[in-house]
Amino acid sequence: MGVLKHNPVNDKLVLRLLDRRWALNSPDAKINQIMILNPKEDGLNGDVTFRNITQPCLDEGIMKKNQSFPSFYVVRDDLLHPLVNGNKARKLDALLPLLEDYDATDVVTCGGCQSAHTAAVAVSCAERGLRPHLLLRGEAPETLTGYNLVSTLYGNVVYVPRSLYAKRKEMLTRHAESVAGRDGSVIWLDDILGASSRNHSSGKQNFSKADPVKCPEKSRKVVVINEGAGDSVALLGVVRLIQYLSQNHLFGKDQALNIVVDAGTGTTAVGLALGALCLGLPWEVTAVMLADKINAYKEKEQNLISEYLRSFMSSADGLDPSIVNAEIVQWVERSLPRKFGNILKGEVQECQKIARQTGILVDPIYTLAAWDIATKLSQNMLEDRKVVMLHTGGTLGMFGLAQRYRSYFKIPDEDFR
Ligand SMILES: *Cc1c(COP(=O)(O)O)cnc(C)c1O
Repeated sequence: MGVLKHNPVNDKLVLRLLDRRWALNSPDAKINQIMILNPKEDGLNGDVTFRNITQPCLDEGIMKKNQSFPSFYVVRDDLLHPLVNGNKARKLDALLPLLEDYDATDVVTCGGCQSAHTAAVAVSCAERGLRPHLLLRGEAPETLTGYNLVSTLYGNVVYVPRSLYAKRKEMLTRHAESVAGRDGSVIWLDDILGASSRNHSSGKQNFSKADPVKCPEKSRKVVVINEGAGDSVALLGVVRLIQYLSQNHLFGKDQALNIVVDAGTGTTAVGLALGALCLGLPWEVTAVMLADKINAYKEKEQNLISEYLRSFMSSADGLDPSIVNAEIVQWVERSLPRKFGNILKGEVQECQKIARQTGILVDPIYTLAAWDIATKLSQNMLEDRKVVMLHTGGTLGMFGLAQRYRSYFKIPDEDFR
């Protein structure tokens, strides 16, 4: 398999693909710069002190001093929405308008008990007048909190025993059919996507729109979204973010970057790398593997790339066919690998330190892993390369963790001892 670096693809191709209806009004994100005050030569992050130097500092002496310290940038997608995780909002950015075009009435999806994906779908659907139905794995928790609480407040939640949940496709289909009733219809998101891209040139819709005035009690049109919304349509919102970041007043198209992101399914990471590749940017994507082994991530990468090409590109677009086998994401282990969902002693304190020093909240399951890698990379980076961490959000996950790991959250407060 070849490692493809810069594929000189026509920008216009990407711009054409991005010329569509979006859920987010604009792709903008705030960008913070984090300085490391006492870099470590051994590359260990132990006692590193951070400072958020985002406010422009006009004192030249301090500016010069600042330049001698390593630093990295944080793209604050955690600030996109108070309840919808940053990368979930990106993954739904192109998807939600498709639901509206199709005139869907109901959406069915699934996830773990504290799934940020189901919460994001529930909130985003409710915001658009669609009814969300969420299948959550396991039993209802004694106390509702975090993403579980959000899912419950915004959507119709059903808990599914693990044995049934294991057969996702069957479970989703059966539930969607019961929501649709006798007169309703059920369709999977990928099928809408196929239909809408085939009809793109003719501008025609296969689907008749119901008239809410003449026929308010229209039969239900249920759309099923896969767990984690890991379909190729999820990549478009992430590509849109890359295009935004590559503007001249931000990072520009010539600046070498190393983008760091935490990976669950790996969809966000692949979207970032595809965006950089298709826009011909000298940007690399480093993804921290949290939920799976490297081979599974590489397979996911290949599948997403070929699905992306099939859905959004035609052979006439002149894309180098070797891209199908290219490895465009650098998958790395987190410093202390563990079973997904577990947190280790000291990590809550690390999050607390970062919050106090920078005003940025990271969580021990997801974004602390990316923060660690970004810290390490920026201490070893060559002068002309910048390190950029995508803050994918996940703040509400802390509430669930505080319940599950009570002892880790009993933090002695040094100021009051
Ligand atoms: C869902 C989620 C991820 C995983 O994103 P993938 O696209 O599945 O890799 C990472 N970080 C946070 C905070 C998330 O909520």
